[in-house]
Amino acid sequence: MPTVVEVVSLLAAVVATWTGVLVLRRSRTSPLALPLAVMMFGASSWATARALLHVARASVPGTVVLHYLVFPGAAAVTAAAYWYFVVLTGRRLSRRAAVLLLVHPTLLLAVLASNPWHEAFLRVAVDGGTVQVGVGPLYWLHSAYCYVLIGAGIALALAAMVRAVPGHRHVFVVAALAATVPAVGNVLTTLLAARPERPHLTPVFFLVSAAIWSWVERFGGHSATVPVSTRQVLEVLDDAVVVLDPRGRVLDANPAAHALLGDLQGVRLQEDGEALPRPARVAIDALRSGPGTLTTDSGAVLDVRVTPLTDAVGRAAGTVVVMRDVTELERLRAELVDQATRDGLTGLHNRRALEERLAAAADDAAASGRPLSVALLDVDHFKAVNDAHGHGVGDQVLAEVGRVLAESTGPGETSARLGGEEFVLLLPGLDPGAAARRAQDLRTRCAQIAVPARTGTVCVTVSAGVAALHPGGSPDDLLRTADEAMYAAKAAGRDRVACAGDPVRG
Ligand code: GH3
Ligand code: MG
Ligand code: MG
Repeated sequence: MPTVVEVVSLLAAVVATWTGVLVLRRSRTSPLALPLAVMMFGASSWATARALLHVARASVPGTVVLHYLVFPGAAAVTAAAYWYFVVLTGRRLSRRAAVLLLVHPTLLLAVLASNPWHEAFLRVAVDGGTVQVGVGPLYWLHSAYCYVLIGAGIALALAAMVRAVPGHRHVFVVAALAATVPAVGNVLTTLLAARPERPHLTPVFFLVSAAIWSWVERFGGHSATVPVSTRQVLEVLDDAVVVLDPRGRVLDANPAAHALLGDLQGVRLQEDGEALPRPARVAIDALRSGPGTLTTDSGAVLDVRVTPLTDAVGRAAGTVVVMRDVTELERLRAELVDQATRDGLTGLHNRRALEERLAAAADDAAASGRPLSVALLDVDHFKAVNDAHGHGVGDQVLAEVGRVLAESTGPGETSARLGGEEFVLLLPGLDPGAAARRAQDLRTRCAQIAVPARTGTVCVTVSAGVAALHPGGSPDDLLRTADEAMYAAKAAGRDRVACAGDPVRG
């Protein structure tokens, strides 16, 4: 009767051969298939030799030969296991490594063939009709080498695990744990070796490992595979991503792109957009305008990035357009820019903004030949307002002057607070006469300001200086001339407008 071990070994051999053939069929598509198949066939020959030992028991030469035939299979399994780990961890088995891996099986075959003479591997003693087998030093060398090879494979897997992205680590852990199954099995076998019927289940244990490694090969993914699905990443991305072929046809658009731009399927971004739905036109504008920001008809501001794609030999393979809705970010940015150019008390432009606009207006005036005038206003005896009614009331007066100025500012004009109680109205296109009339109007309106205070209503007057840009004159000159005219108005009794170069009018 065959023992349980022998029956299990025979079954294992059948399963190993069958799965080896199945795995081999995937060798074109999976780089792990070939080492796995070699491992299966090795385990199959190993287990077959073990199983047939029983059948051949009656024949002494048959038993001896089968004892030798156990080892080539074992050598193939361990070499293939190491090969598997090399490929699993993202490498190719180099020619040198392959040659080195073949050294052990070759030497083993030579040692087994010459064993009857030296018996340094197996000691075969025929006692009556039974064969007694002991092991020699070369057997232990062979076993140690197999352990080292499996250990090296595990080390490769653990090193790859450390480098791997978190979602991919378990693949290497599972593969490394699987390698310990035959090691543990072999240790158990060796510990039980004192028994006459040694339960040689190591090839069966290797089949368990191979089953796990096959699972890794089928479902765990190879390290060269993208660890997280690119499609899933694109689907959860808030940015709209549109992929175009070299002719500008939409190949792919993620859900964010559909939400932002509507259905883009079949749209060609280089064609004239007139006949297309509005969102597609936005996409066309995005592509044409290139990187930067783009404002859609609905007022959404899009940050657009355009990345050309090339294939392995550098030919144009299409374009990726990434669009991000930055409407809120743009609004905040505009608000911050505005805050940086405004005076906090009056809401008018501040000195820095005035200087920028004055410089631009001066350039325009020089280029167009049109006049440019400024009116500079200063509240009369403002210190006295502060002194009599307090700083708070003084602030209210300044805010009222600011309101009057803002209300009188026409399109293309700029009103600003220069500082303290001084204000400027920038009047592009106005000659000094027209500017003086505007300043008179402002003076009259400011005189109507009435700010309630504890001791009664506070009223103020303003003095104004008007000046026009001379050909070749600088913006600084213009402001200085207006300031001089304003001081002339003060000197002439305040509450009046002075035009630079003209007699002061009341
Ligand atoms: P003048 O008619 O010659 O212009 O006399 P003035 O008192 O208006 O001029 P002066 O330059 O002597 O005083 C300006 C005052 O304006 C002094 C300062 O305390 C006050 N002031 C400057 N900035 C502010 C402000 O933001 N709020 C208030 N309440 N007062 C201010
Ligand atoms: Mg002043
Ligand atoms: Mg003043």
